[in-house]
Amino acid sequence: MELWYTEKHTENVQFSIKLDRQIYSNHSDFQRIDVFDSKEFGRFFTLDGLIMVTEKDEFIYHDMIVHVPMAANPDIKDVLVIGAGDGGTIRELTRYESVESIDVVEIDEMVVEVCKRFLPQTACKFDDRRVKLHFEDGLKYIRNKVSEYDLIIVDSTDAFGPGEGLFTKEFYGNCYKALKDDGILVNQHESPYYDSYANSMRRAHKRISEVFPICSVYQAHIPTYPSGHWLFGFASKKYHPTDNENIDKWNELGIKTKYYNTELHRGCFALPNYVKELLE
Ligand code: SAM
Repeated sequence: MELWYTEKHTENVQFSIKLDRQIYSNHSDFQRIDVFDSKEFGRFFTLDGLIMVTEKDEFIYHDMIVHVPMAANPDIKDVLVIGAGDGGTIRELTRYESVESIDVVEIDEMVVEVCKRFLPQTACKFDDRRVKLHFEDGLKYIRNKVSEYDLIIVDSTDAFGPGEGLFTKEFYGNCYKALKDDGILVNQHESPYYDSYANSMRRAHKRISEVFPICSVYQAHIPTYPSGHWLFGFASKKYHPTDNENIDKWNELGIKTKYYNTELHRGCFALPNYVKELLE
């Protein structure tokens, strides 16, 4: 007998991974949480039947959501992370000695507990002295923040369920307000490939570009996300993501990465024509 995990990427497309076993399943107040072991992708966890993190390909997502903005401004000190209950983004941020504070706002405490227990590869830096965990809705948390952060990273679920509010104009406007004068906002920006994801991506881009003077999109190949073609949003008050002399200086930090490098930094903002058209 074979045991398979299958995820619907569209009404007509499924993605499957052969399992060794299921090791955890529960419902929190917000979502269903499952953890599986597999040969191909190692251990992975899903929320409401959607893959969040696998041991094998998480480095791509976490490198790209953290090191791109950190290279654009080496003076980032105060960071707000929204979502990110698996801890991968926090792990990468804590590698920078220059970062002084990391506020993490995760709506679902159970995600953090489950990841600490079953995914130590990513959930390994929650006890760093600079990390402060807040278990609440990021949409509400940010409403009364003014000029507090150099960087906001939105490492959320998709634009439905608990993550829906993190794709609204109200939220992006509040991010602008919560950032200092040279602040940067980076968010997971869905995929351009299948229509339902592409629609969320277009809406998010339109709303962010109505708020921020500099607004770009960059891409990475993430095998376990729908279509494998994933985007991130880069919005900024001052720093350009590529026309920026800080980027090559990032190499002097000596941070060893498995995916990110400064050539890739410039290349990842070059988008295919169909994606450019979707964003126009
Ligand atoms: N890398 C992942 C991806 O794109 O599939 C995202 C990972 S992380 C697990 C996403 C987290 O965002 C979840 O733990 C979820 O509970 C959290 N989240 C969703 N909506 C939120 C909200 N409104 N405020 C704070 N956290 C939220």
